[in-house]
Amino acid sequence: MSTDGHTSPLGPPSESKRRQLAADLRSLVSVSAVVDQSAELQTYAYDASFLTQLAPHPPDAAVIARSAEDIMAVVRYAAERGIPVTPRGAATGQTAGSVALGGGIVIALNAMDRVLEIDVPNMQVFCEPGVVHAKLNEQLAPHRLIFPPDPGSSKMATVGGMASTNAHGMRAVKYGPTSSWVLGLKVILADGRLIETGSVGSRAKQSSAGLELTKLFVGSEGVLGIITRLRLKLLPIPPARAIVLSVFDRLENAGEAVQAVFGGGISPSAVEILDERCIQAVNIYRPRMTLPNAEAVILFEVDGNPAGVRWDAEKIADLVRPLARSVDWSDEPSRIAALWEARSVVGAAVGVLRPGSNRAYCGEDICVPVARIPETLRAIQDISAKHNIPIATYGHIGGGGLHPGHLIDGRDSDDIRRVLLVADEIHDLGLRMDGTTTGEHGVGASRAPYMAREHGPALDVMRQIKQALDPKGILNPGTIFASEASAVEIPINAEAAVGLPANAEVDHG
Ligand SMILES: Cc1cc2nc3c(=O)[nH]c(=O)nc-3n(C[C@H](O)[C@H](O)[C@H](O)COP(=O)(O)OP(=O)(O)OC[C@H]3O[C@@H](n4cnc5c(N)ncnc54)[C@H](O)[C@@H]3O)c2cc1C
Repeated sequence: MSTDGHTSPLGPPSESKRRQLAADLRSLVSVSAVVDQSAELQTYAYDASFLTQLAPHPPDAAVIARSAEDIMAVVRYAAERGIPVTPRGAATGQTAGSVALGGGIVIALNAMDRVLEIDVPNMQVFCEPGVVHAKLNEQLAPHRLIFPPDPGSSKMATVGGMASTNAHGMRAVKYGPTSSWVLGLKVILADGRLIETGSVGSRAKQSSAGLELTKLFVGSEGVLGIITRLRLKLLPIPPARAIVLSVFDRLENAGEAVQAVFGGGISPSAVEILDERCIQAVNIYRPRMTLPNAEAVILFEVDGNPAGVRWDAEKIADLVRPLARSVDWSDEPSRIAALWEARSVVGAAVGVLRPGSNRAYCGEDICVPVARIPETLRAIQDISAKHNIPIATYGHIGGGGLHPGHLIDGRDSDDIRRVLLVADEIHDLGLRMDGTTTGEHGVGASRAPYMAREHGPALDVMRQIKQALDPKGILNPGTIFASEASAVEIPINAEAAVGLPANAEVDHG
């Protein structure tokens, strides 16, 4: 509970307290900026979640951080007063995780965006948390190095946000999630202490020294500490790629094809599915694409040396052919780019299926066992029909990740009510299929109500870790740990949903 009137569930502090807070913060920081004008604070009230479109939450103040020292000073100040502190990267998260649901201070990390050192011989990079993923890889490319995780939000998401959500992306099926690539972190704890995980000053690529704190902070969504520097492992850029386009008349065959490829000893670098509605949407949105109409298409990508890539692509085609209506592969860069364009526009394209509609990012990220994907896709279609909400589904099928895209009229409160029921049933479906409510986007506030069911007694252990590191509960309250009220009971302000932004043309990964 706050001593200063900030901590949820207390209401907002008075205007004079807000002014005092901003004045205090300005006196603490040396190179960072403090934002306290209410119009500017509105920009911090949202992330990419449907939840914050329904119920935006501006903070009482935002600090645009430019140094770890300033962050330490702000956190110490907040800890003394029990004021909530919410770290924020690019706010591309779809779970309300970077939004100050309990008021207090948002610490924006996106201005700390320097690549500090590219250590080419040791194949690692040191960088600040606000570096945008695509920009990092642009700087690594001249060294023929790559940081392999690749979220669809690559051109926006920060590496600090990626580490905090353990982002995956298309190539996680071969290269693993962000956690596989983080060697060490500098983290500011809830009491203002700065620690370095992964051994102080280390440049080693391996370590068995003690508890693996790096992995504890990766995926912790800002509830255990604020990441101020990352040491990331790199890989040489694979010299060649090929892509296999396979078309299926039955979803079940698509699921079997994925199993056949892995069973055949091939490890694709990406395996992406588009369902029938996604195919229709892409063809309307980009008529020159001419994807074949079918129940599903799967794109398999392989990478490596040129001869090996051709061998893998041919082998995939052979394995998939008995199950597919058609299969063809190419290692032509233009063909590869065209097919990836079809995949990357799908998130925006689905909007054409219901003119004037908006994507509602809720229940958008389940992950199920690969063998249960066809069953899951059919169940999503049933949920869509039951609630009369069109859903187009695509995803990282190689790892079982599915992104159902729900299309609603954001001006219609009944659509909003029904899409929240859809999200609830999809989360339930993920768990019933022996999967998870989130394959890569994280929990935030949107999925916090499902964590007790998802984790059982393990959630208590997570709470104990949180309590040990943040006894006052100031770091990102409302994220991961929340009341167990049903997700559909989240306060709904239908008016706030009016005029939801149209889908942008980005990879809704
Ligand atoms: C179009 C689109 C496509 C996407 N595609 C993918 C995809 O393919 N794969 C995928 O995994 N995700 C995807 N996402 C989700 C999102 O981009 C990722 O979760 C991303 O990692 C978030 O990065 P961010 O910088 O925007 O973090 P934010 O959204 O700002 O924050 C996310 C969480 O991390 C915490 N946080 C941020 N920075 C720090 C820090 N320095 N220290 C401590 N905590 C911090 C925040 O408090 C919050 O809880 C997509 C999102 C969009 C909008």
